Order: sequence, then structure tokens, then C-alpha cells
Amino acid sequence: MTLRGRLTSAFLAVVLGPVLLGAVFVGGAVDALGRDRAHERLDTAAGAVRTAIGELCARLSASADALAVLPDPAQRAVLADLVVARGLATAVQVVDATGAPELTSANAPATPWADCAAPSPQGPPRALAARVEIRDGTGARVAAVYVTQAVDESLVRRLAAATGGGVTLLDDAGAAVRSTETTADRAGVTTSVRWLTGEGTAVADGGRYVRRLGPAPGQPLPLAVSVPGPDRRDLFAVLSGIVLLAGALAVLTAAWLARSTTRPLAELALAADRVAGGDLDVRVPVRGHDEVARLGGAFNRMTRETQAYVQALTAGRDQLRRNLRILGETLSGTHDLDRILRVLLRTAMAATGARAGLVLLHDPDTGHLVGRCADGLGERAPHAEPAALRIAVGRGLLGSVAATAEPRRGRVHPDGAPLCPEEPRCLTYVAVPFCPPGDDAAGETGPAATGVLALYDRLGADDFDDVDLGTLRTFAGQAAVAVENVRVHEEAQRLSLTDPVTGLWNYRYLQESIRREVERASRFGRTLAVLVLDLDHFKAVNDTYGHAVGDAVLVEFARRVRAGLREVDLAFRQGGEEFVVLLPETDTDGAATVAERLGAAVRDSPVPVADRLRVPVTVSIGIAVYPRHGASAQRVLDAADEAVYAAKAGGRDTYRLCAPAPVLAGGVRKTIPAVPLMELDLNSELDVRLNPVSVAGEADGADDEEAAATATGVPYGPATPRQTRGR
Ligand code: GH3
Ligand code: MG
Ligand code: MG
Repeated sequence: MTLRGRLTSAFLAVVLGPVLLGAVFVGGAVDALGRDRAHERLDTAAGAVRTAIGELCARLSASADALAVLPDPAQRAVLADLVVARGLATAVQVVDATGAPELTSANAPATPWADCAAPSPQGPPRALAARVEIRDGTGARVAAVYVTQAVDESLVRRLAAATGGGVTLLDDAGAAVRSTETTADRAGVTTSVRWLTGEGTAVADGGRYVRRLGPAPGQPLPLAVSVPGPDRRDLFAVLSGIVLLAGALAVLTAAWLARSTTRPLAELALAADRVAGGDLDVRVPVRGHDEVARLGGAFNRMTRETQAYVQALTAGRDQLRRNLRILGETLSGTHDLDRILRVLLRTAMAATGARAGLVLLHDPDTGHLVGRCADGLGERAPHAEPAALRIAVGRGLLGSVAATAEPRRGRVHPDGAPLCPEEPRCLTYVAVPFCPPGDDAAGETGPAATGVLALYDRLGADDFDDVDLGTLRTFAGQAAVAVENVRVHEEAQRLSLTDPVTGLWNYRYLQESIRREVERASRFGRTLAVLVLDLDHFKAVNDTYGHAVGDAVLVEFARRVRAGLREVDLAFRQGGEEFVVLLPETDTDGAATVAERLGAAVRDSPVPVADRLRVPVTVSIGIAVYPRHGASAQRVLDAADEAVYAAKAGGRDTYRLCAPAPVLAGGVRKTIPAVPLMELDLNSELDVRLNPVSVAGEADGADDEEAAATATGVPYGPATPRQTRGR
């Protein structure tokens, strides 16, 4: 059953029940009232009949008394005629002591007569009579006077007229002799009268109230008086009409009420269905200010809020998708770690609504977490530059996250996160570690994580929740993979550019680096010194001690070279036992100093290769400086290479500076290698041109010696056996 049906039924039950009860009650009350009034009418009618018959008897008695006092029969006859003529009686009869009629009026009614004084129920009375006896002086009855009134149709009608009801003259058996009742009522009246004893009251079949009267003294006639009963048909019709009208009104009202109540609910249900189907534009009409209207208003408000929320979510999701796409492209498209971390940080902040963020990576050299990129830190951080943020592993919030690889989130106050002074200040925070993929930890002695991603102060001042934490862990996982990829890529690159024996840069990287350094020196107007180093008589080392010892010597030599250089200097293994050193922003003086230092470093302590084995080694060094000794990378390298020949020719274990290229016709310089250091004013091109040194024919010992004689470098070590420098 629908709500509308239930409401209608309930309303009808509530309204029609009392209406029906009221109708029954009113009907009963009115019926009882009608019965009472019928009884009253019957009493009145019976009283009226008694009074009329009493008056009639009194009149007949008076007439009989008047006749009895007349002694003369003739006079009595005259008076009798007068009585009859005046309508005081129907007839007069005088009988003597024997009962013989002495005087009889015409039209004397037939017997039996009902004596007013002593009624005798012997058959239906035909007349009403008053009897007076005439006695003589002795008291003996001499005559009797009867004055009679015929009990005929007109008398019964007169009685009925006096009562206002119906009058019926009965016989001994209670059957109607004369009656003013209608034919329809007569049978009912006589039937009900038969069951009455005395002057009882009954209700006839037709609804009339009937009472039996007489015969009795003062009431000699056996009569039935009836009055109409209460008219129930009208009552029931009126009541039925009222009930029907009330019912019709109740049905209409119930239908209206149910419709006006359930219609907004039906609209609400329809709208809720559409919302469930995804249509958030739907609204329900709000009519009035009742509870259902308030419900409709609340529904509209809820739908509006949900729509705004969904729109915000959709916008956030689109933004996140864009950021994730950029992140994906960045992760797959570049090995620029800073760029990757920047995009990652921005995406993580957009995804969680953080105001500020920071990425730190573990620096294995220092054992600290070092800031790699930051966003929105502003006043929160003690340093503006992310790289200046250095936090020891295990220290503060970020250090502990790196040490334990356990993510943390919370609020600085009141739980009082253990922030250390180096960390950014914040109210709320979430920090997740970068854990390297697989079991590849940062190092056996390093922290559990290779870095930390930290976000601060979420928009709206809410705490970061577990969903944020999960999101950040995903990002951190990607970041860890990216960091690892970049590290592997850099390692691969480094390996492809380094010499596996010595760990120095290889020839390929030399080509790239010298071009880059020359380009830089050219752009900024600086000098670049190039040193070519060749171990002396290295073949003899191999031959004497074996290749393994030779390799060990190469490794140790490379280490000493590396140790003797600045951070910005670059050392390469060109091939075999030949090495190249690039000294950015270094002139000839500086280069000579370095060459001297490296030569001494090699010479001064023989290379220990076994328990007691010490291999003495020396090196010859050629020096060329850009742009003085060559206008291009290759030329300055060739110049330095040729200066090595001069050093070899000069007795080895020494260095030589290349001579500046002479200016030829047309302004083109010619490189003249192997200029003896001490014989040159390094700053004078003129001197260089005046003291050219030729290295041609250095392949044989005689030329070597000749060159050495010409280019008398200053040996900085003991004289070494003269050997041909093979290439
Ligand atoms: P010089 O003083 O004239 O330079 O004499 P040298 O013996 O050093 O010159 P030479 O060019 O004749 O010999 C170079 C030797 O270096 C030949 C080779 O056996 C050795 N050599 C080259 N590469 C390696 C290497 O990777 N390991 C070892 N152990 N020896 C190498
Ligand atoms: Mg050599
Ligand atoms: Mg060599």
C-alpha cells in the first residue's frame, strides 16, 4: 500500500469513525426523544377521550335528572323532545316500574347501551346512556328515565378530532367496530390492542402508539386511541445524508491532504533517483515552510554542496592527472635528477595540498642529508638555498626518517615532533623515505633510506592523513627508482668515460673535456694548461717485474697524480703509460709548478708493489698552454705531446714547455714544440721565436742527444738511462 493510500485510509478512519458514532448517538437520542413525545401525545389523546366521554356522560345525566324531576309525563315528553331537538342526546326513554316503556323518543339507538355509571361489557355498545330512577314518597321506584347518545360514526369522529389521533371502538374480542384509523393502520392497531390488558400501551406494526381505554366507570366505552410514532425515516434520511456528506468531504479532504503531503516526497524520491544516477543538477521545488519543505531545502543544499565537492574533486583529479603525466614523462624522458625531483615535489604538493615541500638526498661522502630541491619553504627554512640544508642522519625528524626508513606524519604541537634547528619550521608535516628498490640499501654503513620527501603545512591547517601518506609513499617509491636509475646511468656513463685500471678519465673523455675546457677558456679569456706525462722506461718495468707489477705501478702513479692536483683539475689516461692533465685557468708558471710537483711525487718514493719490492719510477712531462701554444684543443694537445719528446730527449725525469707557435706570413702561428724551460722568457714570444727547438729526427739516439743538447731542460731528478721514446 502506498503512503498516499495509507494516509488517506488513516484520515478517513480518524474522521469517519467519529462521524458514524455521532450519527448513531444522535439517531438514538432523537429516536428516544421521538418515543417520549409519542407517549406524551398518546397520554394527551387518552386524556382528551376521557374528558370528552366524561362531558358527554355529564350532559346525558343532567338531561336525565331534568326529566326525572318533572312529575307530569306530558311535560317529560315535551322536555324529552326538547333535549333531543337541542342535540343534547340522541333519544330519551322512560319506563315504568315494570319496565314497560312509558315514553320513547323516535330514533332510539339499538341496545346494548353502555351505562355511564356502570358499564357492562356485553357486546359492542351501540349507545351511551345515563339512567335516573324516579321514586315515590316511600322511596319505591315508579319509573326510570334513560337519556342515550348513539355511539355512531360521528361520535367516534368527534372523539378522534378531540384527540388529534385515531380512535377505534372495540368489541369484547378487541375487534374494531368503528374506527377513524386508516385501513392500513387499523389492523395493526387492533392486533396490538388485543395483547394489552388494562390501559396499557403498545406500538402497532405501522409504528403508531396505541393505548386501550375502558370500559370502566367514567369511561364506559371500550376504545383504542392511537397517535403516530416518531418518524424514523426522516431521521435516518437526515442522518444518512449527514454521514454521506461528511464522508464525501472527508474523502476529498483526505485525498487533498495525502496528495499535498506525498507529492513533495514523490518529487524528492524522483530527484534522489536522478542524483543516484549522477545528475547533480536536479533540484526539487520547495513550497511553504513545513517539514517537507525543509526536507526539500536540505536536499537541494546537499545536492549543491555535493556538486561543488564533485567539481572540486574533478578539478583536483584533472590537476593530479596532469601532474602525474608530467611526472611520468619526466621520469621516463630525462636523467636530470634535479628536474625529476622538482617535478616530483610539485606533484606531491599538488596531490596533498601541502604549502611547502623539500627533497633531501643522502650524501655518502659527508653522511648527511643534503637538500636537493624545495618549494614554498620561505621563512620556514634556516637557509634560502636547498643545498645549504644539511641534516645529519638520525638527527631531527628528517634525519630519523632517513635512519629508520619509517614514514612519519603529525603535528609539531602538541605532540612536539623532534625538529632540529637545521630543519624547516612547520605546523603539520609528513615525511617519507626514499627506499632503494630491492635490497639495494644505501650502503652497509649508510642510512636505511637514500633520501627523504617532506611536505609541510597542509592547506586548511588539517593534519596530513593516511591517504596522503600512501600517496607520498607511492611518489617516494618512484623517486627512489628515479634516483637509482640516475645513479646507475651516471655510473654507466662514468664507467664508459673512465679507465678501468687506474680509475682516471679515459681518452674519450679527454677529447670531450679538452674541447670543453678550451671553449670555456676562450669564452672567458682564460688560459688552460695541458700536461702530457709519459712514464720513463716503462717497458723495462714490465720486462723486469711483469705486467701485473706494471699495472700496479700505473695505478699508484695515477693515484699520486690525482692527489697532486686541485679539485678542478682533470687527469686522464691517454693510453698505455701516457697520461694527460688539464689545468683550467693555469698559465705556464703554474703548469711548471704542477709538473715539478708531480715529477717529485713519482720520483721521491718508489712504488711498493710487494712486501719488499719497491719499483723506482720517473716521468717525463710536456707542457703546453692554451692559447699560447695552440689555437685549438687538438693543437695544444699536440704541442704538449711534442714537448714530452723534448723532455725525453732532455734526459727524462724532467719536464719541458712547448715553444709558442711562430707567427708566419698572414698571421698564422706555427707551433714549435719542446722549448727548454730555463732558456726561455716565458712571457716573450720574441724570445721563443729566437730559440726554436726542433724535435725532428728524435727517433734515433743521436737526434735525441742533439735535441737534448739544444733543449737543455733542468733535470729535477737523477739522470736516467737515455732511451729512445717509443710511441
Ligand atoms: P720511454 O722512456 O722512452 O717512454 O720508454 P718506454 O719503455 O716507457 O717506452 P715504450 O713506448 O717503448 O714502452 C711503453 C711500454 O708500456 C710498452 C708496454 O709494454 C707498456 N704498457 C703499455 N700499456 C700498459 C699497460 O696497460 N700495462 C702494463 N703493465 N704495461 C703497459
Ligand atoms: Mg714511456
Ligand atoms: Mg710511451
